[in-house]
Amino acid sequence: MEDEQTTTGSKLAALRRLMRKDENDVQTYIVPSGDQHSSEYTADCDGRRAFISNFTGSAGIAVITLGQANLFTDGRYFLQASQQLDSNWTLQKQGIKDVPTWQEYLEKKIPHPNRVGVDPRLLPAPEAESLSTKLKMKGSSLVPLSANLVDEVWGSSRPPRPASRVFALTNDYTGRSVEEKLKEIREKLKELDAYAVVVSMLDEVAWLFNLRGSDIAYNPVFFAYAIVSRTDATLFINEEQLDESARAYIKDLASIKPYEDILAHAASLSDARVPISWSVSDSAIEQKILISKLASWALLKAIGEEEISIASPVADAKAIKNDVEIEGFRHCHIRDGAALAQYFSWLEEQIAQGVELTEYQAAEKLEGFRSKLDLYRGLSFTTISSTGPNCAIIHYSPDPKESAAIKRDQIYLCDSGAQYLDGTTDVTRTWHFGTPSSEEIRAFTRVLQGHIAIDTCVFPQGLSILLRDAFARRALWKEGLDYRHGTGHGVGHFLNVHEGPQGVGTRIAYNETPLKAGMTLSNEPGYYEDGKFGIRIENVGVVKPAQTPNQFDERGYLTFEHFTMCPIQTKLVDVSLLTSEEKEWLNAYHSEVYEKVSPSLQKIGEALAIEWLKKECAAI
Ligand code: ZN
Ligand code: ZN
Repeated sequence: MEDEQTTTGSKLAALRRLMRKDENDVQTYIVPSGDQHSSEYTADCDGRRAFISNFTGSAGIAVITLGQANLFTDGRYFLQASQQLDSNWTLQKQGIKDVPTWQEYLEKKIPHPNRVGVDPRLLPAPEAESLSTKLKMKGSSLVPLSANLVDEVWGSSRPPRPASRVFALTNDYTGRSVEEKLKEIREKLKELDAYAVVVSMLDEVAWLFNLRGSDIAYNPVFFAYAIVSRTDATLFINEEQLDESARAYIKDLASIKPYEDILAHAASLSDARVPISWSVSDSAIEQKILISKLASWALLKAIGEEEISIASPVADAKAIKNDVEIEGFRHCHIRDGAALAQYFSWLEEQIAQGVELTEYQAAEKLEGFRSKLDLYRGLSFTTISSTGPNCAIIHYSPDPKESAAIKRDQIYLCDSGAQYLDGTTDVTRTWHFGTPSSEEIRAFTRVLQGHIAIDTCVFPQGLSILLRDAFARRALWKEGLDYRHGTGHGVGHFLNVHEGPQGVGTRIAYNETPLKAGMTLSNEPGYYEDGKFGIRIENVGVVKPAQTPNQFDERGYLTFEHFTMCPIQTKLVDVSLLTSEEKEWLNAYHSEVYEKVSPSLQKIGEALAIEWLKKECAAI
């Protein structure tokens, strides 16, 4: 007998039997890693790619033919995938020369004609459409199968879909009622000549109805869809998840239907649509139905492909935070700052005393400090707690069972964050508990200069984000250095720590979304020396109007307000490289941190943390 945990042979054999069955009749089967909502993090029941391949990384796609099983993943996961995949699998290293992407593999490496099966709920519509066109040109077809073949193999051992309690977030935290949000979305529908929007992203549904849950780790969301038309709103959810108060107010605003009914209702949308004339002429306007770019192929097919326009007005509305949300962000970042001061002062003392501490043990201590804070609702992602060479691994997280001991003579990088009812935090600080090398100091100083450049940047509305991204890299480029990640991502309000569509970086999506006042973003330049050390300095903040003496072209000028309140280690700064403005910025930031964070530390009588804060916030 094969051990099911370690080898995938029997699972693949069962899958191939299903592929051959008359009702399926496919020679190739695609197993994407996402869920029906294109969530960044997924629940265990949606871990199909991990189940079939044993590879547990967050990114990767499996393509299984009758004779071969391939796993496609990127550079972050080569090592992990090669350890987890057994001999039934071929690892296709994405980004390496001459290795095909999974789409190229389907186009060029499988025999044609070929029927390629996929669960259409798990593939974003634009991706499926483009693949389908390419396969058609080869005489093959992308076949949407209504049953998920991996689920059939998984059978009764597949974990159930989570059903966490869903609760209402009051207007004191959201700043806007659901009525107001629905009204705004309906105005958008009119503006866009649209009849309805199908909301498929989990954070968009949560935002729209002022509800939160905990179906997915780190993201306070729950499994649901919504349809908002010019006249009605429907929430598709397992009704039992709604707590008493949530159910009471939703009932007045929207009809509640079972989660599974979404596709049937989406299909009936086209018929339900009554042409209404919004223009002066009486002729009926062809009204569109809107879905998100990340909505599934199944949803697109259900709605009817010709009539839709792919855009979600909900995502755009959610991205602009209101004054209550912004005030919440300010408050939770000050509380978060107190936990960071407790943690980093504790850690420094432990290391100085020669206590042996692993990266994982340290991360747990930080979680402990945060969990005592008001309005705390859990972490916003897995803590990155890393020492020395591990700091250079951008998506590193320490293994609970074995992680490195934090060393006094190496850089320590900690990227962490939490969920609070009034906001979400995400902060990175880099420390050295001994004597840093001149190479480390120089790189840290250049990263800091990039961070300051973004924090202080004043720019006209509509400026190319690429240009703004360059501000963060300018100081590093002078040294011939750079980093391989974006400079900033959107941050949700007590929602996902990575929130689209706004961001700063080289991604195309970012450049399609001009920054606007009220958008919350991270500012996180870094530098990584493989095998040696890594540096990142990350604050979260909000885009706000800038007070400029002039208004050239009346474009409106914007700047950034930081929320994050944690010292930046001056021991790692080469002051001689800083301009006087940069020096002033650092001193002003530190006095602001001390002023805002020390009162709450005083309240709980944290002498060690207060001493530490005073030392780290001292002027240079
Ligand atoms: Zn971060
Ligand atoms: Zn971040």
